[in-house]
Amino acid sequence: HPIALKRALISVSDKTGLIELARKLASRGVELLSTGGSARAMREAGLMVTDVADVTGFPEMMDGRVKTLHPAVHGGLLALRDNQEHLAAMQAHGIGPIDLLVVNLYPFEDTVAKGAGYAECVENIDIGGPAMIRAAAKNHAFVTVIVDVQDYDALLAELDANDDRTTLAFRRRQAQIAYARTAAYDAAVSNWMADAIGEDTPRRRAFAGTLAQGLRYGENPHQRAAFYVTGEARPGVATASQWQGKELSYNNINDTDAAFELVAEFDPADGPACAIIKHANPCGVARAGTAIDAYRRAFDCDRTSAFGGIVALNHTLDGATAEEIVKIFTEVVIAPDADEDARRIFAAKKNLRLLTTGGLPDPRADGTVFRQVAGGFLAQGRDSGHVTRDALRIVTKRQPSDSELADMLFAWTVAKHVKSNAIVYAKDLATVGIGAGQMSRVDSTRIGRRKSEDMAQALGLPLPLTIGAVVASDAFFPFADGIEALAEAGAKAVIQPGGSMRDDEVIAAADRLDLAMAFTGQRHFRH
Ligand code: 5GP
Repeated sequence: HPIALKRALISVSDKTGLIELARKLASRGVELLSTGGSARAMREAGLMVTDVADVTGFPEMMDGRVKTLHPAVHGGLLALRDNQEHLAAMQAHGIGPIDLLVVNLYPFEDTVAKGAGYAECVENIDIGGPAMIRAAAKNHAFVTVIVDVQDYDALLAELDANDDRTTLAFRRRQAQIAYARTAAYDAAVSNWMADAIGEDTPRRRAFAGTLAQGLRYGENPHQRAAFYVTGEARPGVATASQWQGKELSYNNINDTDAAFELVAEFDPADGPACAIIKHANPCGVARAGTAIDAYRRAFDCDRTSAFGGIVALNHTLDGATAEEIVKIFTEVVIAPDADEDARRIFAAKKNLRLLTTGGLPDPRADGTVFRQVAGGFLAQGRDSGHVTRDALRIVTKRQPSDSELADMLFAWTVAKHVKSNAIVYAKDLATVGIGAGQMSRVDSTRIGRRKSEDMAQALGLPLPLTIGAVVASDAFFPFADGIEALAEAGAKAVIQPGGSMRDDEVIAAADRLDLAMAFTGQRHFRH
């Protein structure tokens, strides 16, 4: 099955590596066919190139919408070389075989990402490129297709190893990559259109993503993994610049995302907010007047767990905060920006990864998120829910004070980012105890309390900070026992969705224990 390459069609938007590849192909005696811009670039480099227009007998037309869509091209890609009828048709119509197709598509995803208008995005939907890629990939028994600049070296290595030929195994692998590319491309187009027309339901969505990097391993070392990006222009881990440190791992990416999405909930105009994340759950979150105070207070929620964590800020990282962060081992720091002092301080810590995003994602923005189950995907809109003070329903005799209300909304926002069952104790805009990921809500209340007691001991505080704190619960209390456990911990006010069959019992317990309680009417499960 090794097949020699006699005639190649090269049509690429991304001209990276083009000349070098073309030279090496030409030196092996491969005839080069090409389209407008690609042909021009190769000719300027002194290569002999045949224009596709000369092959089709038609000029490129309609702003390039029609260049290669012609039987002289598609027949040359699709003809079976061992089929007498196909060969006869080629002969009858003067169609020459094309053995190698090198195409990369109009940069549709980049055009969307840079915020181009509707018409420009439409014009960047490549038609002829995907048609040729699909044709060549279908005929991989005879034709080699390359759709990624990163595979040029592999092609040349294949030719070196096989006497200027490609093996069936190589052609099949490249065909598989080719269909992955056209599938992702069309999915990107469809998803862009869904966004453009304001289609915010996750129905009839396609799955799109381009390989950003292979990862060393997945959640565990025995799992293989890779990072795909969607091209969505949302500031975050996928689009951040990494200033230093090792490559991010699978778990780093997941945790960094959780950390940054959480701090983005807090408007930087209200002062810096900081979150420290471990295993996708916050172990401390705080807002304060300065970034260093926000970090210190987040750290003081659970100093033990913060070790080896991911730190996110909604604010520029400054030198003083950086100095504080490097006192313990931290895996990743992500912030919209980092000043020169901060970068200099971090530079001495080679293993610390610093990411800057240039901005914050909009926590209210729509979007579709996916989860895989055996045999399928679940799709849902991003949890962009939030409540305002006015929307709260106070259901108890005791009314919360202004500062309690501020803490309640803060705790509620944090709870949205804690795995269910989530219980968040907060005081003065800092978490003071977090119970995450328990199967019983009462257990989460106890864990949050116990953590606070441990910290009080470690910090030499006379009393745990849960005393006088407020509490957020991501979902309703099914029984009064949860409320009783919170009162036992010393909490003064509770924010929760409400909506339990036993709300009456729960409210009665709160009244009996002199707690203030607000219902949000909205739940934040996170699994
Ligand atoms: P060039 O820079 O060579 O003028 O254009 C290369 C680009 O044109 C490639 O991205 C290729 O996928 C695309 N292309 C090739 N043939 C056609 C066609 O018939 N229609 C459209 N819309 N794009 C094409």
